[in-house]
Amino acid sequence: MNLRDSEIMRQMLAGIGYATQAATPEHADLVVINTCSVRAKAEQKVYSLLGQLKGNATDSAKQIVAVTGCVAQQEGSTLFQRMPHVNIVLGTQQIYRLADLVLAAEQESSSHTLATGLSSSFVIPAFHKLPFPAVSQQITDEEPRHKRFVNIMQGCNNFCAYCVVPYTRGREISRPLGHILDEAQALVESGVKEITLLGQNVNSYGQTNRVADTPVTFSDLLRQVARISGLQRLRFTTSHPKDLSPELIGCFDELDILCPQFHLPVQSGSNAVLRRMNRGYTREEYLSKVEQLLERRPEMAIATDIIIGFPGETEEDFSLTLDLLRQVRYHSSFFFKYSDRPHTPAATFPDKVEPAVASRRFQEFQELQDHISLERNQEYLGKTVEVLIDQINRKASTANGRTPTNHIVHFPPEPQHNQGDLVQVRITGAGRHSLKGETLP
Ligand code: SAH
Ligand code: SF4
Repeated sequence: MNLRDSEIMRQMLAGIGYATQAATPEHADLVVINTCSVRAKAEQKVYSLLGQLKGNATDSAKQIVAVTGCVAQQEGSTLFQRMPHVNIVLGTQQIYRLADLVLAAEQESSSHTLATGLSSSFVIPAFHKLPFPAVSQQITDEEPRHKRFVNIMQGCNNFCAYCVVPYTRGREISRPLGHILDEAQALVESGVKEITLLGQNVNSYGQTNRVADTPVTFSDLLRQVARISGLQRLRFTTSHPKDLSPELIGCFDELDILCPQFHLPVQSGSNAVLRRMNRGYTREEYLSKVEQLLERRPEMAIATDIIIGFPGETEEDFSLTLDLLRQVRYHSSFFFKYSDRPHTPAATFPDKVEPAVASRRFQEFQELQDHISLERNQEYLGKTVEVLIDQINRKASTANGRTPTNHIVHFPPEPQHNQGDLVQVRITGAGRHSLKGETLP
């Protein structure tokens, strides 16, 4: 979500003349720090980065500094108090105003502008109404030309006990169906082959506000995007297990271009922890959904998110998480040590897990996941997979891209290969994080 927001801001800024990325922050006329506050560490990084910037600019009187996103939303004017060299603080729904506010700051270099309004009737602007050239015109070289993200909703209503997102990104609001289809169509016309639909909880798309004249589900949206002629691959993230519907599972039978990859965050393998997290499903319900997905597409790569050391997590709870990892054999996972976040119920829970215990569990989890990821990757040895080329380095004669299951594959490119080509690659090597192979003629 932040990557996509950064793209939007970069495009807007290119539209007002900020077209080239500076080699270092000291040389930049404008520094934008787009922030995440999902864990305390991410938030601390923002302050330390701002501290490093202070007074270091080649022309610090003229340098404009903007902080955007979740930390901006959460901290608001505190950022100006702690870091007076910050000029613009823009919350999560306000990033679309960045270009206008930068133009104003150019006139008044010591100004402080705060925009952190969060409204439950907010609508992500339609791409053709944004104050920069249409998204179909590639105006900076930073964005890939062959695969892109499309936002389908914003915010979250789930209030998981540990999570700051509902407070920083506000209430869940789905974008109008027509806006999403227009944007996806324009991207495909400009040469995009793969689209990833983005939302905090894509399964509830269209359920909390009206997105079209008739009711629309996430599966309806997938079917309509999949129909766009020329689109080769369709992905989405993230799905909440409690809302993963039979209809969505059925889409994997129906839609050929829907990639066999599923990010299904479980957070914990213990029902007692899941209950305290307010996740709304049990381990058994979760496992049954995984099974149904694999029935549709046995080759599907399933990934997850795990929180280690949630308040009150016992050794037995943690061993249930390890056990779940062994059972599902996730291709990969993102795992985090629990971190207290402002406003969240879990921050006030007693029985915080000792940092040393959380670190030991973290390491145990990592070792097991690494072992399973390697085994999973070795299953591809000798197989031929389709790869969408992301990068080519002709000098080093290396290239990489992704399979439909979202595995990274490294291979030596042929002279006729280009970024965005779909090629067949035979897998000859497997590591924990990627595969190696050779292209087939
Ligand atoms: N909407 C997505 C997740 C967004 S946050 C979903 O529900 O899956 C991404 C991940 O960060 C979460 O899945 C969770 O594993 C982790 N996370 C969120 N809050 C956290 C906290 N307070 N401490 C540690 N990890 C956290
Ligand atoms: Fe956070 Fe839960 Fe919403 Fe995901 S579903 S963003 S973890 S509150």
